[in-house]
Amino acid sequence: MTAPLSPDFVNGEVSFWYRSLGVPDTGEPLGGDLRADVAVVGAGYTGLWTAYYLKKADPSLRVVVLEKEFAGFGASGRNGGWLTGALAGSPERYAKTHGRDAARRLQRAMFEAVDEVIRVAREEDIDADIVKGGLLTVARGPAQALRLREELAAQREWGWDRDDVRLLTTGEMNERLRVAGATGATWSPHCARIQPAKLVRGLARAVRDLGVEIYERTPVTEIAPGRAVTPYGTVRADHVLRCTEGFTATIAGHHRDWLPMNSSLIVTAPLPEKVWAEIGWQGRELLGDMAHYYMYAQRTADDRIAFGGRGRPYLYGSRVDERGHTHTWTVDALWDLLVAFFPAVAGSRVEHAWSGVLGVPRDWCSAVHVDPATGLGWAGGYTGHGVTTTNLAGRTLRDLVLRRDTGLTRMPWVDRRVRAWEPEPLRWLGVHSMYRLYRLADAREGRGMARTSVLARIADRITGH
Ligand SMILES: Cc1cc2nc3c(=O)[nH]c(=O)nc-3n(C[C@H](O)[C@H](O)[C@H](O)COP(=O)(O)OP(=O)(O)OC[C@H]3O[C@@H](n4cnc5c(N)ncnc54)[C@H](O)[C@@H]3O)c2cc1C
Repeated sequence: MTAPLSPDFVNGEVSFWYRSLGVPDTGEPLGGDLRADVAVVGAGYTGLWTAYYLKKADPSLRVVVLEKEFAGFGASGRNGGWLTGALAGSPERYAKTHGRDAARRLQRAMFEAVDEVIRVAREEDIDADIVKGGLLTVARGPAQALRLREELAAQREWGWDRDDVRLLTTGEMNERLRVAGATGATWSPHCARIQPAKLVRGLARAVRDLGVEIYERTPVTEIAPGRAVTPYGTVRADHVLRCTEGFTATIAGHHRDWLPMNSSLIVTAPLPEKVWAEIGWQGRELLGDMAHYYMYAQRTADDRIAFGGRGRPYLYGSRVDERGHTHTWTVDALWDLLVAFFPAVAGSRVEHAWSGVLGVPRDWCSAVHVDPATGLGWAGGYTGHGVTTTNLAGRTLRDLVLRRDTGLTRMPWVDRRVRAWEPEPLRWLGVHSMYRLYRLADAREGRGMARTSVLARIADRITGH
């Protein structure tokens, strides 16, 4: 169905989250060569959390952040606002190299990182519309319901109990949120709703207050040991940290490290009370499902629904669409799904649509690394789970830069090496067939299949998901 667009519909322009704040005036670019202790490339959550914790640990450090647009231009200013404790990657894969205890420690650290972000936001007076209402994952249809129970059983095997995630009765589910066609749901407390741009702009302000210099409109054209080169000068530093996530493929020498995957959202107009009376959602839980082509959603502070999904997943040659313009097909598909979830929303309109890029490593697991010999470091590959993970990454990069041997530096994602993605056209073919198969699998399961479609398993095989 063609999505009904509001008269003041906006497509792209970075994201809806800047509509109330205004797209920021960019600060000053770099004014010439300079010398620093640490140069950070990219002013998203990863770069800013790293700068924040470094300066807190050692105020005498000169930390310089170089950003090609403005702080919060990337996924950090565009995401779905799930501050989630979910691990960015499969625990089995981390366990394979470091054992199950280490993988469990990483998961526990993720749960705790949700509260750490909330703590810092409070301490630094960052109002990011945070509500810790937990994560509601619904199953629609028997195949999804089976996967939900299998997923819960896997969580129990990992040692996570009812305080971490639990199955809801139909009554409990409907008391929280009424999703059409939902046949089951789990709820986990380890998730909070945020307004992403408010968090990243607040963090940028807090970091500047600590004395970190952020140079905007300053693209880094070369990263090498001891230097980050820009058109306006070179920053020489003992450590140069690449914090560019979905944009990493645009940096020389890193074209095939992480696949830039697109994700897209639409947002409705503010919904009237009678719609909320039908839907529920008083607890401001984050909402996800068990589809292969999964969705994610939140009820915003001003009572809209922000509803996201994959859209056009990948552009040939790892291109990134910079300002978030979103294809009509994606807007329509997200609208159809939104109305299928919440028929009461059908009378509303779409006010904004936007997209962003996230980084996907070949094994779908994130990593942090600092080479003590060269001083080069990076963190990322969060596969769409970066809002909380970036905080853990920032604290880990701090300890690695300061050469501290801590619990964080011994986590199984530190120094994780992954092979590069295949060259084109294999990369494009792989990703597109994966998502085509996922869509077909969802459609088949939607017709009442009791088990996960074999097509989805083939898709997982193709890209190692
Ligand atoms: C649409 C969407 C929805 C998402 N939803 C969620 C969610 O609900 N929950 C969740 O946990 N995760 C979500 N994610 C993922 C999450 O937003 C990211 O993992 C996280 O924001 C990554 O932060 P980052 O700082 O590493 O990268 P980014 O925020 O992308 O920042 C990278 C920065 O580097 C800059 N840059 C790039 N190249 C250069 C260069 N050459 N020189 C200088 N600067 C450069 C960019 O301009 C950008 O500002 C979503 C992502 C997208 C795109």
